[in-house]
Amino acid sequence: MKTADPSVYLSRLARVREEMTRTQVDALLLSVGHDMPYLMGYHAMPLERLTMLVVPKHGEVTLVIPRLEAPRVHEMSDVFRSIPWNETDDPVQITHDLLGDARTIAVGDQMWSRFLVDLLAFRPQAHYVRSVVVMEALRSRKDDAEVAALRAAGQAADRVAAQLQSGQIPLVGRTEAEVSADLSARLIAEGHQKVNFAIVAAGENAASPHHHPGSRVIQRGEIVLCDFGGTMNGYCSDITRCVFVGEPTQEILDAYEVLMRAQSAGVAAGVLGKPCEHVDAVTRSIIDDAGYGEYFVHRTGHGIGMEEHEDPYMVAGNTTAIMHGHAYSVEPGIYVPGKWGMRLEDIVVATHDGPVSMNNADHNLAVVDC
Ligand code: ZN
Ligand code: ZN
Ligand code: ZN
Repeated sequence: MKTADPSVYLSRLARVREEMTRTQVDALLLSVGHDMPYLMGYHAMPLERLTMLVVPKHGEVTLVIPRLEAPRVHEMSDVFRSIPWNETDDPVQITHDLLGDARTIAVGDQMWSRFLVDLLAFRPQAHYVRSVVVMEALRSRKDDAEVAALRAAGQAADRVAAQLQSGQIPLVGRTEAEVSADLSARLIAEGHQKVNFAIVAAGENAASPHHHPGSRVIQRGEIVLCDFGGTMNGYCSDITRCVFVGEPTQEILDAYEVLMRAQSAGVAAGVLGKPCEHVDAVTRSIIDDAGYGEYFVHRTGHGIGMEEHEDPYMVAGNTTAIMHGHAYSVEPGIYVPGKWGMRLEDIVVATHDGPVSMNNADHNLAVVDC
């Protein structure tokens, strides 16, 4: 969702200030990362020159920005004002001056440490916390427009998955890297502006959950795990589907049946009020009971939105209650080292009417012959 509608940003700012009051944060400092565009639409360039959005609990929001970047900013005087700085200015000094008597300062995760270190020298007595303290409640709960953007991205990823599952993407004799490039091109063709990753892992490589696709040539008689996603109109897709080239063995079919059951139970477990860790417990218990527990080596899911991985995480220990608008992946996997691996992933949004899947590509193990 790319919006230039100031009313969207004004209402988000109002909610940020409620959260700042609740969490006793006096000022919010945002730089590189997605908190800043969430509040005013502009992405800071990851440069040695500082771009900083200063959000005091009361008073004007200010964007401190290198003069040469200023022309890229879409001005919204209702939302913020800009202070372009010159090459000989010290932007940390400017930020420090804007902070006034702020004592507790929330800082974005991706702000470069060099700027935080300099700021610490200017105000050593301040108390610093992570911006997630303020932002999590907003960003983890998607509004209707954000859910629509996630759905559109999910449907585009589904179309690429369907092409894979129907055998339109040749596999045999091609390298993982070639198939990865093919999936990437198709994500763009289906409407994404950017590809974030396209994991293709064949045979024993599929036992490595974040395998980097390489020169390994795909052969008949192998499972091929494909996990891909990108950004479409500001929001991310992320889907995993496995295909088997040729006739799957009984071992693969048995394991896949367990995986599919675990994944669909995990989707159904996304009930409002239950803790996030409940989703993980549900998928894990099914995989455990079938005897594959030691081969499920990662959490069940991650939140998704403007970023591929963000709060909330579906992991043991996360007791955060599932809330309306939470968007996250459900992606259990089974990985037998040296042999094979499999994962099944959908993006789900929790709602008052139950969990809604953003992905609807066929969940069965597709059998292809090309
Ligand atoms: Zn991942
Ligand atoms: Zn994924
Ligand atoms: Zn994922």
